[in-house]
Amino acid sequence: MKEIIAEIKNRISKAAASCGRNPGNIRIVAATKTISLERIRKAIESGIEVIGESHIQDAREKYPMLSSNDVSWHFIGHLQTNKAKHAVNMFDLIHTVDSYKLAEELDIQAKKNNKTQQILIQVNIAKEKSKSGITEESAPDLIKKISGLKNLIIKGLMTIPPYYDDPERARPYFAALRMLRDRLKSSLDSDGVYKIEMDELSMGMSHDFETAIEEGATLVRIGTAIFGERK
Ligand SMILES: *Cc1c(COP(=O)(O)O)cnc(C)c1O
Repeated sequence: MKEIIAEIKNRISKAAASCGRNPGNIRIVAATKTISLERIRKAIESGIEVIGESHIQDAREKYPMLSSNDVSWHFIGHLQTNKAKHAVNMFDLIHTVDSYKLAEELDIQAKKNNKTQQILIQVNIAKEKSKSGITEESAPDLIKKISGLKNLIIKGLMTIPPYYDDPERARPYFAALRMLRDRLKSSLDSDGVYKIEMDELSMGMSHDFETAIEEGATLVRIGTAIFGERK
């Protein structure tokens, strides 16, 4: 595991260097769905600092068992509004906010916890029917609205592009998310009233993270390349 993770970090550094980025601005989110506690612990001992869980129920089982470890917890799955409370209890960053209704509930729960909940907005940049996320066109209005919620802070955007064997085919979607982020950042900054930071881009997985990094990814969500094929 140590060698595998060192190799992934090496690939991240190379991809960053190839486009003049600082590899320190790119974090690995280890996608741990279906992965046992023991193997997650091993990954942490081997240098993983962020755990990305996809299911609230799994996370509720794993979280107390790993709470002595110094790791950050991110939620990367689809979040139902009725699970917002658990999500706020456990996660430092929720990658998948895709409606005002969900944001509102997260805001209520964050207030109860005396917490400012960090979130990303999930954008369905390729408009795939099978995927969650808001459309690119609806992003500016929704983000303005969500930024009015006092106990949330929008840290950036997340996307899952279509799967291609050739990562070059996903590049236009990664680039589109970055350009959307840049447009949002300048327009909302100039409005001056919105509490957004918009520096994070969660994009890229095991088979295409280098391409995503070349297009600006700051959070790469990697499962298979760390843990092997899921059963
Ligand atoms: C499982 C998962 C990943 C990791 O996928 P791999 O191809 O195994 O790297 C990334 N993002 C999300 C949202 C996932 O559910």
